[in-house]
Amino acid sequence: LPLRETELIARIRDQARKLRTKSLITGIGDDCAVLRLPRGHELLVTTDFSLEGVHFRREWHPADAVGHRCLTRGLSDIAAMGGEPVAAFLSLAIPADLPQDWIDDFFDGLLRLAKGHKVPLTGGDTAESRDGVLADIVVTGSAPRGKALRRSGARPGDQIYVTGELGGSAGVVRALFAGAEVSPKMKEARRHFYPEPRIEIGRRLSERGLATACIDISDGLSTDLGHICDESRVGAVVEEGRLPLSPLPALLGIGDQSVDLALNGGEDYELLFTARTKTKIPGRIAGMRVTRIGAIVKDKRRRMWIIDRRGEQTPLLPRGWEHFR
Ligand SMILES: [Mg+2]
Repeated sequence: LPLRETELIARIRDQARKLRTKSLITGIGDDCAVLRLPRGHELLVTTDFSLEGVHFRREWHPADAVGHRCLTRGLSDIAAMGGEPVAAFLSLAIPADLPQDWIDDFFDGLLRLAKGHKVPLTGGDTAESRDGVLADIVVTGSAPRGKALRRSGARPGDQIYVTGELGGSAGVVRALFAGAEVSPKMKEARRHFYPEPRIEIGRRLSERGLATACIDISDGLSTDLGHICDESRVGAVVEEGRLPLSPLPALLGIGDQSVDLALNGGEDYELLFTARTKTKIPGRIAGMRVTRIGAIVKDKRRRMWIIDRRGEQTPLLPRGWEHFR
């Protein structure tokens, strides 16, 4: 499909040209993008797949939501490091029979979010796919030298915090699997269809030196907290009664699964971070609620526990989301 590919690239280039930033020297139209980082900053790079049937379904997700969610995956990783996004690159493989409208809407969703965060789309590749839509987003960012938030900085005694609410996104997926119809236009369901990456919160955590470790919750709290425990060589205790449960599962008639969804559901794209006990963490950062949910403990085996509402402590196993299969 040489003509279509040329047209497609011309369109992306046209759209991408609208966004100019100080970091961008040369974007689409040369062999490489040329980017400039602020003096004394380090480069952050992250890459994430969005695969049809794994991360989205065309019958459930409008194309603009797929584009938006594709870029959120990358931006959320930059947020988790406390970085500032610099530029995005997209490689996209599409089936030959995919309607042009779908592709247009995909880019509308992706570029709308890009514009909101002043992240230019500065390159990528297109190809024909034999099986479904495959999108790979690369997002680059910057952080002042040595200031990027890592997974490895948590210490015994640190408190564990999360932003926003948990379990809403996976609640939508579970409801869709159960045959429910969930409209992308439903206000409460936006967190699933159009999740906002927590860039500003990450930036403030880093700038004010509040967090000792940070990760974005993309695979589910139990799995992502497990990554912090592994990298920091510590254990963790989470209090069920403190979890900021999303009201969405209840709205969708699966309120009995709220705790499971908050612990093991994926794609919340909230930030999970740790801080010293003596560090004062505001109840809101950048307008978003921040909740203390537990504490880091000393444990060589890097185990996690959950304390239920009756005070009973049981192991918390990493049972994060396993996508749309
Ligand atoms: Mg991540």
